[in-house]
Amino acid sequence: MKLILATNNKNKLREVRQILEPLGYEVISQSEAGINIEVEETGETFEQNAELKAQAIYDLTKAEVIADDSGLEVDALGGQPGVYSARYGGEGLSDSQRVSLLIDNMKDVDAENRTARFVCVLCYISSDGTKRFFKGNCEGKIGFEPKGENGFGYDPVFMVGEKSMSELSSDEKNQISHRGNALKKLEVFLSSKQKGL
Ligand code: IMP
Repeated sequence: MKLILATNNKNKLREVRQILEPLGYEVISQSEAGINIEVEETGETFEQNAELKAQAIYDLTKAEVIADDSGLEVDALGGQPGVYSARYGGEGLSDSQRVSLLIDNMKDVDAENRTARFVCVLCYISSDGTKRFFKGNCEGKIGFEPKGENGFGYDPVFMVGEKSMSELSSDEKNQISHRGNALKKLEVFLSSKQKGL
């Protein structure tokens, strides 16, 4: 089964492929499908933004589409940066500058109160236009300094136990990540749909 992933984010594309391709799904990127648009994320929730991205690509292709909207919720910051994770501190910052900003904004927060979670909402639209949402979380804590080389975004400062997400291999990350958890739910749905259940 062929799915178009509504994103221009190469890291998301890599992770979604690593998880879905061994299960027999072919994941086509937005650009491979010949679509060169950047959908504005004007929603206030992960669900709304995932739907905006999936719908825009579905309207152009009428194909099977998935979109991922994801981000980091930090309890001590009242759930921020949340849906604004990609734009935290402004559009012009690099991932490592955003990580530094987050560490700085957390400088007065003790170890116990640094709880946070990654959240991923997937919106799937089937070729007949039916829409479904799948949500995955990954609980952790914000570290005091960046660690590790793998992953992207806030991974270097997102601690799962003793290690940061960037210190995990991609397989280890996919086993526990918000995206991995949401994709597992999508896969259960798609495989029962294919069996006609
Ligand atoms: P969006 O879904 O395109 O709005 O962007 C999500 C943003 O959340 C990314 O740019 C990252 O900053 C952050 N994010 C989402 N998933 C991950 C992840 O797996 N690791 C680290 N950061 C992530």
